[in-house]
Amino acid sequence: MTTYKHSTVPVGGERIEVSGGSFQVPDKPIIPFIEGDGTGADIWRASVRVFDAAVERAYAGKKKVHWMEVLAGQKAFDATGEWMPAESLEAVREFKIAIKGPLTTPVGGGIRSLNVALRQELDLYACIRPVRYFEGVGSPMKDPGKVNIVIFRENIEDVYSGIEFKSGSPEAEKLRQYLKSEFNKNVREGSAIGIKPMSPFGSKRLVEMAIKYAIKKGKKSVTLMHKGNIMKFTEGGFKDWGYELAAEKFAGQVVREDDASAAGSNAVIIKDRIADSMFQQLLLRPSEYDVIATPNLNGDYVSDAAAAQVGGLGIAPGGNVGDEAAVFEATHGTAPKYANLDKINPGSVILSGVMMFEQMGWQEAADMVMRGMESAITAKTVTYDLARQMPGSTEVSTSKFGDCVIAGMQG
Ligand code: NAP
Repeated sequence: MTTYKHSTVPVGGERIEVSGGSFQVPDKPIIPFIEGDGTGADIWRASVRVFDAAVERAYAGKKKVHWMEVLAGQKAFDATGEWMPAESLEAVREFKIAIKGPLTTPVGGGIRSLNVALRQELDLYACIRPVRYFEGVGSPMKDPGKVNIVIFRENIEDVYSGIEFKSGSPEAEKLRQYLKSEFNKNVREGSAIGIKPMSPFGSKRLVEMAIKYAIKKGKKSVTLMHKGNIMKFTEGGFKDWGYELAAEKFAGQVVREDDASAAGSNAVIIKDRIADSMFQQLLLRPSEYDVIATPNLNGDYVSDAAAAQVGGLGIAPGGNVGDEAAVFEATHGTAPKYANLDKINPGSVILSGVMMFEQMGWQEAADMVMRGMESAITAKTVTYDLARQMPGSTEVSTSKFGDCVIAGMQG
């Protein structure tokens, strides 16, 4: 076991292991958490009480999470001089499943986004964002209850690879000359140039995770969202590799939408939509979509747009999942102006905990938290952000909202 300088490994806890492609979770797992900057501390205090109460009620003491704080962001910088100490990454690598609040992106040259660092270092190749409606939350849609989708966004490749050259730089000019001399392709002088690498390997493993999820959860369809009509080899490749993977690995369990046998079949339907049409479809015919698999940039846009359809980011959870580790996280930022006011909505981290429990196979605890959230929102006891969209609601603090969620759990 690694020795940690700035964290204490909880006594009595055990390590989660990965075997046969799945997480093997003991009854007393050690789970590292990163509190997060800004409002992170307020949110974590409320969320951890909800998680512990759910596990206690679901398993009556048979199971218990042993939380291990690891440092990242401002708290890490103050204690160690580093924004993302190597031992924090090591803790997630060692204990496999972790949860985090929002982190400030330090401003200044040479400092990578901490979130991007985590995803890339641990090869968390899928960003999973479930989007569903909670009855009573203000929404710009007429019928937001029809939105119930899970987005699988590729998390490593695409324009996020970080290969980009500044306008006027010698690198950009050299690349421009090369494209002209080798491929007779014209790029306007002085252009900035970015590279968009997308591989069959990266695309297929993402689509595989999405299809496995759809089969396990009894979902009707998986939609490959892409812009292959314009970017034929990258985005178009994503679509083709997705269909190939479906046929290679899930024969008999999936069927293509354009296959004559699709109608009336119980198999998961695999379909594809051009990215711009996907945004329209989610507004006009959301009930036709269950699971979406998409490259990185499309996924970034569509995740937040879909979250807005059901009432915003304050209650949108997320998970970054790979084959060897998973980190569940708030999808919003640090909202620094509300730090230490006990005001902010902890819903995003609480619902990320639901995803975490599901990944661990602790479905009863996940259901318990979800019931608590539904109950608190139905009772209209909500934090300021939801209260301002919900006529007749009672505004409560972060900690009080946590109490309401706990009170709303049953079983
Ligand atoms: P932000 O922190 O998400 O806050 C923007 C606004 O969104 C807040 O002022 C608030 O709006 C609302 N909001 C966000 N979270 C909320 C919650 N839990 N409950 C209720 N309302 C919430 O975005 P930002 O101000 O652009 O970013 C601040 C810092 O966070 C930056 O350093 C950024 O890099 C970082 N960031 C981190 C992550 C991450 O760690 N995953 C993600 C995004 C940004 P109102 O004031 O209207 O109530």
